[in-house]
Amino acid sequence: MIHGLFPDLPKFKDFRLQVDRHSTKRFPVLDMNGKTEIAIHHSLTRQGLSGSNAEGFARYHVNANGWPSIGYSYVIEPDGTIKFCNPVNWRTYHVGNSNNFSIGICLTGDFRYEDPTDEQKKSLVLLVERLKKEYPQINRVRSHNEYPDYAWKKCCEFDYKKVLSEGNKEASKEELGSTYKVQEGDTFWSIAKGREFDVIDLEHANPKVDPQKLQIGQMINIPASEKEKATAEEKESNEYHGNSIVKYLESLGLDSSYNHRARLAVKNGVVSSTSSYKGTAQQNIKLLNILRDANTKAEQKYEELVIDGSWGVATTRRLQQVLGIVVDGVISGQVINGVTRNIHSVEFGRGGSLLIREMQKVLGVKVDGYIGINTTKALQRRMGTTVTGRISRMNSAVVRAMQRRLNKNIF
Ligand SMILES: [Zn+2]
Repeated sequence: MIHGLFPDLPKFKDFRLQVDRHSTKRFPVLDMNGKTEIAIHHSLTRQGLSGSNAEGFARYHVNANGWPSIGYSYVIEPDGTIKFCNPVNWRTYHVGNSNNFSIGICLTGDFRYEDPTDEQKKSLVLLVERLKKEYPQINRVRSHNEYPDYAWKKCCEFDYKKVLSEGNKEASKEELGSTYKVQEGDTFWSIAKGREFDVIDLEHANPKVDPQKLQIGQMINIPASEKEKATAEEKESNEYHGNSIVKYLESLGLDSSYNHRARLAVKNGVVSSTSSYKGTAQQNIKLLNILRDANTKAEQKYEELVIDGSWGVATTRRLQQVLGIVVDGVISGQVINGVTRNIHSVEFGRGGSLLIREMQKVLGVKVDGYIGINTTKALQRRMGTTVTGRISRMNSAVVRAMQRRLNKNIF
């Protein structure tokens, strides 16, 4: 098993294949039972600078230090993303002589001059909580400079104890969901304080409870706040948020078959060939994360297409976004013909393009990944423009029609 891989945690990313690794050196693998501590670091690099992220730290640790890979098991980025870089039973390098028994978590930032973001704090709390739950032998959390020989080190420079204890209080409040366990000194007023409901709501939710006679340990109902209700409704109307790749693809109206997932897994670098795709939970979650990421990035990044009838990178990106595949703006593996010569985002080569295959499936023509006269004619029929089997280089009618549809997120 892979120790420390928790794909179900919010904002968790299996990042093991994304960080640089030394060509020959490897971290020693240890017995998980010996891992009894968690060490907290900051990266000492300001948030938002280029290279101030897990990828950058890994490059530095490999190229400058000659290490096997990044010295931490996890990096928590300013947006709260938890990048899982090394299994936690590996002897990575971060606290010298204490590496054997310590798991390294690094928060990106230079906390001498800035503070961890709320998202980072939240993710740290969840991650530490999860590690302790999964590995009960963990009995201590320390900052880097609380380790022997490191008192001089300005790491981690934020009050991690406060973050963890406040986070735990929050979590235990929320953990019970719609009920709350009465603590010493509680009144309806103190329970409602700081929450998004008031005493009246609390009384309505607990008709049989006498607010004057609360008992320690008594369970009372917590009314759903307006905000929580709104979030629940939003979730219903929005895209799929779960962990099933099949449901995710279905929610986008895409082919969710095993074979198609295998092709997506190859195209997105999850496996090297369709035969090594076995549909395991790990492969599926990785693929899901990549696709979601591509979609999110695409949504953030791409604004309205200019309707210019010229099929360039922007148009290809929007097509990829709308068809739910990885967004790189390139139509790869094409042969030279009258059509491809006029598409600016085409790359000549072999193997066809996933995007063209996706388009061909929708268009109901032969699915081979190559765009030529037949696919173009089908595209023109779909877009309702004159069927010629040709695409003009500039100001093409079919491309203009397609761009208009893409701006409405339809193909
Ligand atoms: Zn440190």
